[in-house]
Amino acid sequence: MSDVIRLLPDSVANQIAAGEVIQRPASVIKELVENAVDAGATIIEVIVTDAGRTLIQVVDNGRGMSETDARLAFERHATSKIAKADDLFNLHTMGFRGEALASICAVAQINLRTRQYDAEIGTRLIINGSKVESQEPFACSAGTNLMVKNLFYNVPARRKFLKKDSVELSNIVKEFERMALVNPEVDLTLTSNDTVLHRLLPGTFKQRIADLFGQSVAKHLLPVSTTTSIVKIDGFIASPEGARHRNALQYFTVNGRHMRHPYFHKAVTMCYERLIASDAQPQYFLNFTVDPASIDVNIHPTKNEIKFEDENGIWQILNAAVRESLGRFNAGPGMDFDAPAGFDIPVFNPDATADHNVNIDPTYNPFASSAPAQQQRQPVREKQPSITRDWERLYEGFMGETPAVPPVMEMPSDGPSPVIEGLAGSASDTDGVYEPSSIIQVRNKYIMAPAVSGLMVIDQHRAHVKILYEKFLRMGAGGSMQSQTLLFPEVLSLSAAREALLVELQPALRAMGFDFSPLGNRSWSITAMPDVVAESNPTEVMSRILADSEAGVIKDTDESLRSGLALSMARSVAIKSGVKLSVKEMEHLISELLRLPTPNYTPDGLAVIRVLSDTEIDNFFK
Ligand code: ADP
Ligand code: MG
Repeated sequence: MSDVIRLLPDSVANQIAAGEVIQRPASVIKELVENAVDAGATIIEVIVTDAGRTLIQVVDNGRGMSETDARLAFERHATSKIAKADDLFNLHTMGFRGEALASICAVAQINLRTRQYDAEIGTRLIINGSKVESQEPFACSAGTNLMVKNLFYNVPARRKFLKKDSVELSNIVKEFERMALVNPEVDLTLTSNDTVLHRLLPGTFKQRIADLFGQSVAKHLLPVSTTTSIVKIDGFIASPEGARHRNALQYFTVNGRHMRHPYFHKAVTMCYERLIASDAQPQYFLNFTVDPASIDVNIHPTKNEIKFEDENGIWQILNAAVRESLGRFNAGPGMDFDAPAGFDIPVFNPDATADHNVNIDPTYNPFASSAPAQQQRQPVREKQPSITRDWERLYEGFMGETPAVPPVMEMPSDGPSPVIEGLAGSASDTDGVYEPSSIIQVRNKYIMAPAVSGLMVIDQHRAHVKILYEKFLRMGAGGSMQSQTLLFPEVLSLSAAREALLVELQPALRAMGFDFSPLGNRSWSITAMPDVVAESNPTEVMSRILADSEAGVIKDTDESLRSGLALSMARSVAIKSGVKLSVKEMEHLISELLRLPTPNYTPDGLAVIRVLSDTEIDNFFK
C-alpha cells in the first residue's frame, strides 16, 4: 500500500490556523489594534467598509517596520516580541505568537504601507492569500497603514458563515470598545462606511468610559483600588443604581488585556446580592495588574481566558475591594438604604477609618427611582393607576375583536396538550375553568388557579407578553397600528452599535408607528410611538427593541422582523413580574390567555402555563 500521510501545503495549513485566530472581522481588528499599540502608537484609526467584509484598515503612528521586517511579519511565528521560550513568561506586550498577520494574510488580500520614523522612504507590500505579489519602496508617513481586503475571499465556506452586517459591525464595535478601554491614553477613531462611530481623545480611564458609554453610565461609577503583593486591582464599579437588566457593561482586564473570567465575575456580582434586583446585573470596569509570570494567557487562542496562579487569593481580594467600595459609597451622602438594621460586610482593609458597614434593606430596589420599580413596590391600585389603566386599555377592543369561540375549538394545530385539554372542558362555561375566589397570586409573580384536573400555575409576565404579542402581530398585519405623536419627545442616547442597529431597523420601526430623528452625537429624539405602547416609557421600549435585535430575537426577514418587533414591544409593556394584581385582573388575564390558540408558550418558547395534575398532587401525600 502506498503511503497515506501527507504534509499539508503551507497555504492550507495557514488557512486552518487562521480559523483559530481569525473568526470574524472583529478578530482582525483586535489583532491589528494590538499590534499598533505594541508598536507604541499614540494615534490609531480603524476604518471598516461593509462591516469589515470589504475592507478593514488600521492606520497607526507607531514605530513602523523596515522593508525586511514588513515581509517577515507575515511569516508564521514571526514576532519581534519574544526571542526565547522564557520570554513567554514575562510578556508585557499583547501579541506574542507571531501568528496574527500570518493568519490574516492567508485568508485575505493585504496592502501594507509602513515606514520607520527615521527611514527616508517606506515600503509597500501586497499579499494575496499568503502569496507576496509585490513589494516596493513607497513614500508614506511614519507608522503603519494596513489594509485587509475581502476577508475570507478564498475560503467561501467561512465567508458565507459571516453574520449579517449589523451583527458583524456590532461585534467590531464591541471589540473596538474593549481595545479602547484598555488603552485610554491612545487617540482612537472608528469609522464604518464613512460614518464616524467613535472618536476618542486620550484621557483617563474614567473619561474613556464616559466617552464610550455616556454620562448615564459614568455618573454611577465608584472607584475601586487595592494593592497587595499578588495583585493590584483598580478601576470602577457602578453603584447599585447603575445596575442593568440587560446588556450590563462588565469588563475585566489583566495587564492591559481584556479577559473573561467567570470566577472573578462571581466575586463581583456576589457583593451586589440584596442590593439590586435578582434579575439585574451590576456593571464594572476593573483592571488587574499582576506579575506576568503568574498568569498563563495561552489557554485560549483568542487569549481571552486567562489562568492565574493564585485564583483563590485574587478572588478574595477582589471581593473585598468591591465590598469596600460599595460600603464607602453607602457611607457617603445621597444614598438612603431605609432599613434600620443591616448586615455587617467585612471589609478588606482593616485599617481604614471610614464606616464600612452597609445597611441593607432586603426590599431595597435600586431601580426605585424609575417607574417600573415603583410599580413593584406599590400596590397597583392605589399608587399606580396608570398600570391598571394601561392594562385595561390594552385589552379594550381586543375582547371584542376576538370571536367568543370557546378555546377548545380554536385550539392547537400542533396537537392537543394535556394543559389545554384540562382547561378547555369548562372554559366554554360562562365562568371559565376557575372560580374567581380561588385564584391566588404567588410572590406577585405567578397566578395559581384550579384547573379541571389539577392546579395550573401561570407566569403573569409571560402570559401578558403572549397576549400582547398576538394582538400587536394582528394589528401590524392588518395595518391598524396607529401612531401617536409624543407631546414631549424623548431623547435616546445610544452606543455606536445600537445606533447602527437603529438605522437598520428604521424602515420597519416607522412602518410600526415609531418616529424618531437624529440629534447628532449618537442621540436620537423619539417623536412618535405606536398607539398601543404610547403610554410606556419610550426609551425603555426602544432600548428593549434594540437589545432584542442585538440578541438576535429580531431577524431581518420581513415576517420575522414584524413578529420580532411585536414580541419586543409586548415584552416591554407587559405587566412585570413583581406587580400585585387584583383578582379581577387575574381573571381577565387568564380568560384572554385561554382564548389564544396556543396559550402554553411564549413566541420564543418559554412556558406560560404549567399544570400540576391531580395525580401529582395526590402523590405528594403518599
Ligand atoms: P505578534 O504580534 O504576536 O508578534 P503578529 O503576527 O501580530 O505577531 O505580528 C508580527 C510582527 O509584525 C510583530 O511582532 C511586529 O514586529 C510586527 N508588526 C505587526 N504590526 C505592526 C505595526 N502596526 N507596527 C509595527 N510593527 C508591527
Ligand atoms: Mg500581534
